[in-house]
Amino acid sequence: MEKKYVIAMDQGTTSSRAVLFDRQGRIVSMVQKEFRQIFPKPGWVEHDPMEIWSTQMGVTMEAIQKIDAKTDEIAAIGITNQRETTVVWDAETGRPVYNAIVWQCRRTSDMIDKLKADGMGDYVREKTGLVPDAYFSASKIAWILNNVDGAREKAEAGRLRFGTVDSWLVWNLTDGRVHVTDRTNASRTMLFDIHRLEWDKKLLSYFGIPESMLPEVVPSCAVCGGTDKFGGDVPIAGIAGDQQAALFGQCGFGPGDVKTTYGTGGFMLMNTGSDAVRSEKGLLTTVAASGEDSVQYALEGSVFVAGAAIQWLRDEMRMLRTSAQSEEYCRAVSDTNGVYIVPAFSGMGAPYWQQYARGTIVGLTRGVSKEHFVRATVESLAYQTNDLIRAMKEEAGMAISSLKVDGGASANDFLMQFQSDISDTRIERPSCVETTALGASYLAGLAVGFWADRDEIRRNWRCEREFYPRITPEERGKLLRGWDRAVKCAVYWAKEGEDDE
Ligand code: ADP
Repeated sequence: MEKKYVIAMDQGTTSSRAVLFDRQGRIVSMVQKEFRQIFPKPGWVEHDPMEIWSTQMGVTMEAIQKIDAKTDEIAAIGITNQRETTVVWDAETGRPVYNAIVWQCRRTSDMIDKLKADGMGDYVREKTGLVPDAYFSASKIAWILNNVDGAREKAEAGRLRFGTVDSWLVWNLTDGRVHVTDRTNASRTMLFDIHRLEWDKKLLSYFGIPESMLPEVVPSCAVCGGTDKFGGDVPIAGIAGDQQAALFGQCGFGPGDVKTTYGTGGFMLMNTGSDAVRSEKGLLTTVAASGEDSVQYALEGSVFVAGAAIQWLRDEMRMLRTSAQSEEYCRAVSDTNGVYIVPAFSGMGAPYWQQYARGTIVGLTRGVSKEHFVRATVESLAYQTNDLIRAMKEEAGMAISSLKVDGGASANDFLMQFQSDISDTRIERPSCVETTALGASYLAGLAVGFWADRDEIRRNWRCEREFYPRITPEERGKLLRGWDRAVKCAVYWAKEGEDDE
């Protein structure tokens, strides 16, 4: 039977999703289900791995049934997932020994402080491309081995397996026959040497993690196994972490290609080709999704508070009924009347790295209205993104000819125009904003020949709207100088606080 579809399993932090794409890269069926967030203590976040598996299976079955797709019509499965989240399970019973420890979980911060005090910080940066943090998987695995009864003994006897969520899904899809992860997910564990593309023995030994627990690392675009869970044999042919999948889904195949996601937080990735650019500004160096033949790297920067600032306007400030309404207010005034809002609610990430910085509003005068306030908040998403663009341009030494956008707040036309204006770059918004799932399906479809090559995929990429810079260099310079001063205020506030202590 003719192959018609590729399935993307999109296992996110709050929901599991399955999307069926056709040859033109169009969504033909999509089902989503939220699952439980478990908060055992302040700062701790867990998921039930069995619930991750059952919701992901459930939505996939439903998405297939919804359009009555036959197994024979499905060319391949691609997987994309919340990154860094850690599952450890018993290879004999297939049962997890503990809940999944989610990327957001801060329980192992002390371990990272100790790692830095032990002088391992530079080593981590050099080998893994990451800034040492509890966010990544390494310290989470160590926590499970050190705190779950009997886990260490079982691990040393070779009975336990570790995986990020992709590995956990593949293991279950193949009834325990295949234990793999792809390079993009491996690059987020803080145990993977991104230059040699192998697990780093020194880091494994530092964290006390037996190598027998670890999955085999495979390219993102390659057949790694097959599943019979859907009534016939379907190859599992693509795997990538969510942000890398989104870059691929945006056709970010070449050096200099950039995508930025405006979700709750913001994530920007720039493809740097075969060059693993080491960042001096606290951007992360990570592996981009690619095929068997080559490895590609990316620089990654994140904005902690992006769409979350709009939620804050809606839920705490009660200035908006809906997030979308922010656009109306932005357009009701011609500028912010000199106001800048820096939404550093939980510190500032790259390129500032000021964890004690706090949200700051500057430039208030008697004439400032709610419209100005909303506009200044929306503009802050663009300024923060622009800070990442500036850092990436400098570090990668590459021009950014255009920026491909996705995520909830990319629907805001005012924001997109303002981004284009202050970053002096063309913005391209695709018609399919489900770029994460699309990226996973492209990886899988390429591996099995459903799509012939990247050119065919590029032809699928349709631009819904472009935005071009419209302001003068003088106006841009003035706006950016104001933002830089506002950021200084947010940082100064934190510094004063430290002095008082
Ligand atoms: P996530 O995947 O992180 O849950 P989404 O990509 O679904 O996030 O985006 C949701 C975020 O986008 C929310 O924070 C919301 O406030 C914001 N958002 C959605 N629509 C708009 C809009 N039109 N203007 C500004 N922000 C928006």
